[in-house]
This record gives sequence, C-alpha cells and structure tokens, in this order.
Amino acid sequence: MDKKFIPFADFKPMHDEIRPELNMAYHRVLDNSSFIQGEECQQFEQEFAAYCQTKYCVGVASGLDAIYLILKALGISTGDEVLVPSNTFIATALAVSYTGAQPVFVEPEIETYNIDVNRIEENISPKTKAIIAVHLQGRPANMDAIHKIAKKYKLYLIEDAAQAHGASYKGKKAGSLSDAAAFSFYPGKNLGALGDGGAVTTGDKGLADKIRILGNYGSDYKYHHIYQGANSRLDEMQAAFLRVKLRYLNKWNQERKKIAKRYLQEIKNPLIHLPLPDSEEYSHVYHVFVIRCKWRDELEAYLKKNGVYTVKHYPIPIHLQSAYANLQLTNGSLPIAEEISNTVLSLPMYYGISKDNIDTVIRLVNGFHINQCS
Ligand SMILES: *Cc1c(COP(=O)(O)O)cnc(C)c1O
Repeated sequence: MDKKFIPFADFKPMHDEIRPELNMAYHRVLDNSSFIQGEECQQFEQEFAAYCQTKYCVGVASGLDAIYLILKALGISTGDEVLVPSNTFIATALAVSYTGAQPVFVEPEIETYNIDVNRIEENISPKTKAIIAVHLQGRPANMDAIHKIAKKYKLYLIEDAAQAHGASYKGKKAGSLSDAAAFSFYPGKNLGALGDGGAVTTGDKGLADKIRILGNYGSDYKYHHIYQGANSRLDEMQAAFLRVKLRYLNKWNQERKKIAKRYLQEIKNPLIHLPLPDSEEYSHVYHVFVIRCKWRDELEAYLKKNGVYTVKHYPIPIHLQSAYANLQLTNGSLPIAEEISNTVLSLPMYYGISKDNIDTVIRLVNGFHINQCS
C-alpha cells in the first residue's frame, strides 16, 4: 500500500488542467521548425513586458543569466562592488562574481526577509556601483527607500524578481521598479517553464538592446560581433509553454495567497514564528511560505515522520559556503542571515493542494511541541 504523504510542491495539478494547451504549444513549435529566436519568444516578451508593466522584455536562458547580463550591460566589472542581501539564493551573488565584481552582503530585516534599508549606506564604498534588491519569497522589497539611496549615491538599482512574478509594490508590478529586473522561469518558480528559462524586464531601450546582443554571442546582426557575448536565449519551446502558463499566473498566485492566508490564520503555536501577511502596499505572491522555529530540525523531522515534506530556504548562507571561502567571512559575521538559515522552514505551497492536506499541515504544525522527537 502507498503511504500517503504531502509533498512540498507538486506541478501535476497545475499542468493537468492545461495539458491540452501545452500540447498545442508543443505541436505549434514542432510544426514551425523554428527553435531559437522565433515568433514564440517575441510574443512572450511582449506579453510578459505588458504583464510586468514595463516597456521591454528580453528572454534569456536562466535567472542567473538575467542578473549577469544586466550587470554586464551596465558595465559592471573587476574592481566594482555590488550590494546584495546576505540571505538571498546564491545566484544573486554568483551573477556579480561572474562579472569580476565583488558581492557585498547587506543584512536583511528578519521580519520581511528583504534587504534592511537602514544597513545599505554603511556598506557603500567608492567602488559600489549597484544594489540588487531581491523580492525574496515573493514579497517586494522596500523599493522607495532603496531608490532614494541609489539616487543619492548614483548607483544602479536592479531587482532580482526570480521569486516574485506578479508581486506588486504600491500597485506597481515587480519587474517595473528599477533600472532592470531579472526573472527566472525555473519550473518551481511562480511562473515556471518546463525546463530552464529567464528574462530581463526594463524601461530602457538601450539597455534591453544591449542585453539582447550580449545574450546572442555579442552579435547585433548575423556573424557581426560587437561584444564578447554569451549564448543565453529563451528557446521557442519554453517561450510557447510560458505563453500558455502566463495566462494562468494570476489564478495560481491567488491560490497561493489563499493557502498563505489559511496558514497565517490557523497556525497557532507559540514555537512557530509566522511570516508577514499580504498587504495592499506589499502584495506578496508567496513563492514560498517560510516559518521560523528555534527547534527547526526537530520540527522538520516530526513533519516528515508524519508525511509532510518541507524545504529549508536556505540551510547555509552564501558567506559560509565553500564557494565563497575567499571572502573569509566566518560564522558570526552576518548574524541575521545565519539566524535565518538556522531557523527557517518552508511549508507545502502549490496550486492544487487539497483542503484536506492544508488541514493536515496546520493540525500537525499546531501539534508540535518541544519533546516531540525525544
Ligand atoms: C531561482 C533564483 C535565481 C536563479 O534563477 P535560475 O533560473 O535558477 O538561474 C536567482 N535569484 C533568486 C532569488 C532565485 O530564487
């Protein structure tokens, strides 16, 4: 007999509902025999730019590439510094490192999980060229305050919106709140391809053009190369799937908000710290629903034993990863990022999770107590 369990995420309910449309998209691309730089990508770029309330969108191969190509197009390179939140996914920092510049970690606010605007200025040096504001977990960063600082110090402001498709800040969509924004269409994101993909949105035509050229071998027209560019394009198959899925993004985000609302209202356990609720100013799309608990590992094991799968976003902060040993940042150097890594746990969150399964997660989390596992 199959043991019943509740996964952390499940794409099947989402894809089963739109399977005929995905099949049509697949056949359309196959019949066209155009697989790179064709109609589908062009159409998707227009549709996604409109969705994000921006003028331009450039499809690229991944979210990591989207951040990297923005930085590269802005001329950021060796000797420069770029501010990034200390608790983001490693891709934000890697994109900076790829340009030759140095990522400088700014601690987040523990309640919003986003960059602490009061700690940005102390990290600015004469080498600082840009700030990357990450809308982590699907909650927009405090963009007005960050804008003010960027303007005062003449820094570029970039959004890492890889977890925030459809989120909005004071009524404006993520992706439209900075010089340029990076999106990922990794399958697990709120808008996911059936493989890898990414995009840049911007209101700056010159920047969009340069990013497109940089992602196409630095070529402005065929076999004519003005930059030492990369190969980073959103392929036709993924663009066709994304065009189908974009039409359902609002519905799926609404569902995420509903699940979050239930968790927020019904989880009542003094050992569990809940995230901030959705608000009109900060319209949160709950890419992940992250709780904190001092006994996080015990909670994780207890939930797993009872058939509920969770994930830690993220268990090791970037500055303590071997990949960044060169920075020589030891344990204790970024205490808020470390506290977050030591205590966070993400609960099941996906379109199509049944009411019964939400009930079960809530009941189990409410039933957790300290001696649970001993
Ligand atoms: C997923 C993610 C990325 C990277 O996107 P990929 O498409 O996997 O390269 C960058 N930043 C954040 C915050 C992410 O969550």
